[in-house]
Amino acid sequence: MRLLLVEDDELLGDGIRIGLSQMNYTVDWLKDGQSALVALRTEHFDLIILDLGLPKMSGIDILETIRSQGNTTPVIILTARETIEDRILGLDKGADDYLAKPFDLEELSARIRALIRRSAGRADTLLSYKNVTLDPAAHVVTLDDKAVQLPRREFDLLHKLLENVGQVLSREVLMQSIYGWEVDVDSNALEVHIHNLRKKLNADYIKTIRGVGYMIIKSETDE
Ligand code: CA
Repeated sequence: MRLLLVEDDELLGDGIRIGLSQMNYTVDWLKDGQSALVALRTEHFDLIILDLGLPKMSGIDILETIRSQGNTTPVIILTARETIEDRILGLDKGADDYLAKPFDLEELSARIRALIRRSAGRADTLLSYKNVTLDPAAHVVTLDDKAVQLPRREFDLLHKLLENVGQVLSREVLMQSIYGWEVDVDSNALEVHIHNLRKKLNADYIKTIRGVGYMIIKSETDE
């Protein structure tokens, strides 16, 4: 899952980026409001972590702008502890949740999971389809109740596919989801990860949709 972090504090931003990367998220980090708005116009993120006091454009203005453009991506705002007004304003302008600084990374991570779950309309904390289950909190994948070891990108890729069972995801969306703006990524990296997942799960769990991308097909017998 790909997160956009908008935070101008270098130390805090770096801590969040590293911590969340270790929890298997792809984190793209921007340090001013204007570039965040540009990125949000053209790219897809699964969630936004938004500081309110930012250079060039405030978090509140970003929030107001993207919501007025119909962008429904879940947003967690980061606020200073003493400013209750900011939290209220943020929530009123379309934020889904807030955290007051300083906060614990584990708490941020739990709130991210809850928001992603809610935005997918899912009540269950586990993602499961057929004999494969993924636990986003424990970072565990099981096949027929036996643990399967997946490196970070494969875990993230499977997470994205399981959040969207029955929908084709384009190569571009999947690449962005697992690499974000990372440079020096092999052009066939996605194919290699898909190949590995098929080997570890089963060969036809993930379908190739020629010329488009990949999907986990929902059988007609399920509902
Ligand atoms: Ca700030």
